[in-house]
Amino acid sequence: MNSSFKELCKVFEKLENIAGRLDMTSLMGEFLKQCNIYDIQVISYLVQGRVAPKFVDSEFNYSEKSLTNLLNQYFEDKEEDIDISSIRQETGDIGDAIYQVSEKLVKRRKSRTIQEIYEILWEIVNTSGSGSVERKGNLILNFLTSTSDIEAKYFVRIVCGQLRLGLHSKTMMDVFSYTVTGDKELSDKFSRVYGASADIGFVASKLDQFKKEKVIEELEDINVTPGFPVLSRLVERVGSFEEVKERLGDKFLVQGKFDGLRLQIHKYTQDSISSRKVIWRDYLRSKEQGLNLFASDSSDGVQVKLYTRNLEDVTDMFPEIVEDAKEIDIDSFILDSEVLGWDYSKDTFLSYQTTMQRKRKYEVGKVSEKIPVKAMLFDLLYINGEDITQKDTVERINLLEKEFKGIDNSLRVADTLRISSVSKLKEVFDKYVEQGLEGLIVKQFEGGYEAGKRNFEWIKLKKSMDRGLIDTVDMVVVGYYYGSGRRAELGIGALLGAVYNEKENRYDAICKVGTGISDDLFKQILQELKGIEVLKKTKDVAVTDTLEPDVWVKPKFVITVDADEVTRDISKDKEGVGNGLSLRFPRLIEWDREKALEEITTVEELTTIFEAKRS
Ligand code: ATP
Repeated sequence: MNSSFKELCKVFEKLENIAGRLDMTSLMGEFLKQCNIYDIQVISYLVQGRVAPKFVDSEFNYSEKSLTNLLNQYFEDKEEDIDISSIRQETGDIGDAIYQVSEKLVKRRKSRTIQEIYEILWEIVNTSGSGSVERKGNLILNFLTSTSDIEAKYFVRIVCGQLRLGLHSKTMMDVFSYTVTGDKELSDKFSRVYGASADIGFVASKLDQFKKEKVIEELEDINVTPGFPVLSRLVERVGSFEEVKERLGDKFLVQGKFDGLRLQIHKYTQDSISSRKVIWRDYLRSKEQGLNLFASDSSDGVQVKLYTRNLEDVTDMFPEIVEDAKEIDIDSFILDSEVLGWDYSKDTFLSYQTTMQRKRKYEVGKVSEKIPVKAMLFDLLYINGEDITQKDTVERINLLEKEFKGIDNSLRVADTLRISSVSKLKEVFDKYVEQGLEGLIVKQFEGGYEAGKRNFEWIKLKKSMDRGLIDTVDMVVVGYYYGSGRRAELGIGALLGAVYNEKENRYDAICKVGTGISDDLFKQILQELKGIEVLKKTKDVAVTDTLEPDVWVKPKFVITVDADEVTRDISKDKEGVGNGLSLRFPRLIEWDREKALEEITTVEELTTIFEAKRS
């Protein structure tokens, strides 16, 4: 049976009042169990505020501001004295604002199925070109004037990118498992497939009938497929060189830690991608929108795609890598690499900042002449029709070295040393750091490429280890302070940063960050934060009294912060916020990291850093 969007919205509403992951899991799980397989796939995208996975360019591109203007105009035309902007200010949320005025909007009420909603949303996505804001506005208004208050509320939250249910992909894997076994028994299996496909709807498509044996069989059948990105394998941190040996055993693989942009390089033919069935495929518009995942642009049907760790399709940004990958005499592969700006005359890499200038959509040609690049290949996931992610890292690297040997254009195989002593490891570390690298990545011989996973089989050793902190911390900004003196004139003097508390499924604010930010950057930050200000702390944020900011913002922007050390305040710990941890002398390294909120540093990780340093 087709489920109604209204029923789903009721579940969303209940989810808003639940914080615990277990309760969220069972609530969502019970609902999915009543839905058909098509709706389950759609819902999986919707809970993430999307209609397709992240690697498919399918944004709504419709801002809260446009919606406010649209409705203000609507009410003005109807001579109604309603100002959406001020209601939005009062309620702190665009969905709640629409909910309040929804009675005034309705002309005739129509109930819609989830499938119908999916179609409307795709229509909005596919509206582009000149006058598209207006045309999207018409579609939205059409919906809002013929629906119920609760549907209106969640619909606009989805379209304006404001749906934050706290159902991260990890929790969704638990939900999927719940629908089959009533617990987390299959969560790891679902996670593996999510890692291999980076597509939550595709994972959901395996839930057919919720029959355990059948689901397991289907899940095990899934491999990485070139053309579709794979979640990047992540790395752990340790406190000392000795710990590397303790964790990895007698012998380990050592590579430089290149400081550029993570890049997955896929080469494939049409046949490869035709095999994967995904519901969003039917809605993809033509190639001119850049949605050319399934279209071949060369006569021999060979295609190359480049993806960042964030699943962004950056194929058009590095044409030389595409060309060179096509030239390689291997039909299909997936390579994992770090791309760096490169000085070919000196055969050396350029700074991170220079490399990042290549990440652009326009005038690619001009910039690529000025800033050439090289992708340092450090892993191989797939070759000649075979998924090799289950093979040990040492085997994959051996294959990489053998098959890609001698290639040295915009692609080059990174050196991998096989090392067995801590003293040698230290020596290599010093040498690489002196050459300007960020440090080392040390990898265990055994173990497959676990997509999207972070564990001690891959370990980073960073320069910053020499100082107080063994790693930088990625936080989400949840508020800001006006500051004093000169800063007060700017209207902002520091940010309030939070780490992710996985257990409580919330963001724990742990410190103020006011250093390392120029006036210009502060101005830009203020501008960006203005758009997401809220009157009260959002429910998914925890803070101690001493850190209360002057202005709260919705958790959205991720920052990277360096500090002298991680400290712990027992009195704060009593309140349970961030395990009592804080940062000493924090300073901003990067504003607006392109990272998902579920990827920021967790309280557990910060505790590891704290304890590693103490020991
Ligand atoms: P994290 O969220 O994993 O802490 P981060 O964005 O803060 O990551 P780093 O701490 O700098 O990144 O370390 C991980 C990144 O290092 C990888 O995502 C990858 O882009 C990069 N990297 C550089 N060299 C290598 C290598 N040889 N092997 C694996 N990753 C490498």
